[in-house]
Amino acid sequence: MEFFVSWTDSDPEYPIFDANCSLLVSPPVFSRAFRLTRLAVMPRRIMVDSGAYTLRKRFGDEFTQQQLFEWQINMLDGVDLDRTQVLLSHLDQPLESGLPRAEAYRRMELTIARAWDFLTLAQRSGMDKKVELVGVIQGYDADSIRWCSRELKRLGFHRFGIGSLAMLFNQGEIETRIKAALQEVGQGLHVFGISSIPVLRALRDLGVASVDSSRPVKEAMFYVLLYSNPFRRFALAGRRRQDMGSKQLKRALPCPCPVCRVNPRRMFGVGSKRFTNYRAVHNYYHLKCEVSGCAAWAEPLGGEN
Ligand SMILES: [Zn+2]
Repeated sequence: MEFFVSWTDSDPEYPIFDANCSLLVSPPVFSRAFRLTRLAVMPRRIMVDSGAYTLRKRFGDEFTQQQLFEWQINMLDGVDLDRTQVLLSHLDQPLESGLPRAEAYRRMELTIARAWDFLTLAQRSGMDKKVELVGVIQGYDADSIRWCSRELKRLGFHRFGIGSLAMLFNQGEIETRIKAALQEVGQGLHVFGISSIPVLRALRDLGVASVDSSRPVKEAMFYVLLYSNPFRRFALAGRRRQDMGSKQLKRALPCPCPVCRVNPRRMFGVGSKRFTNYRAVHNYYHLKCEVSGCAAWAEPLGGEN
């Protein structure tokens, strides 16, 4: 299962450390002027999603598919699409839990309408030949997810994502919905925004193609270090966290990640974003190991870190 690490321009540049890096970026977390060519090293794959949840909070129904498409294309300006594979998704409409049924229906219809606009824009601009177009499934139960999956398939999508699962906490319900989507679309399903290790393992077993998470940097901001095989979490010594009991580290455990190989003490610094970013790279290494296997990591040529 492929692991996309969610990225903003204050996070570490993961592709510097991992030549096999897949990044997920959301337009609303960047300024309109931001271009992905600002990265020192381009990742192997980039998914530009819609950031629909933030756009809906800011603009309601007002934000159009065309505005999003232009924003996504501007972010990609100058990226060599022969060297970096790009996936683009349309302006889906997230369904928060507890939404009135009529509103949920309306948003699902809107998701399909935007998907159609997206395909038209992609064809008109020729982008449909250069990038992979992702249809984003939205639904509030297995039946509505099946309906949305079929509609997107009918429009002509071959690659799919499923949203609105990050807000669910019941693993059984998450799996039920994903199984429904997989039954309709078969292979090539991306699951947005899942970070729980037991859920990620279940998704891999179900045959999900890819997932994304912002967990490496989020954990790093709260002074947490992740380790894989077996998966473990530790707080830095003196940074007791209520959810972690006494699991604190005074010094790093043996680790082959690019940060620890040079100087693991760097992960124990506090008070500067630089230290957070060292922890984030280490956490990224281990989360990717859990999701994709450690062999999915590729040392960059030159090995600079
Ligand atoms: Zn490490």
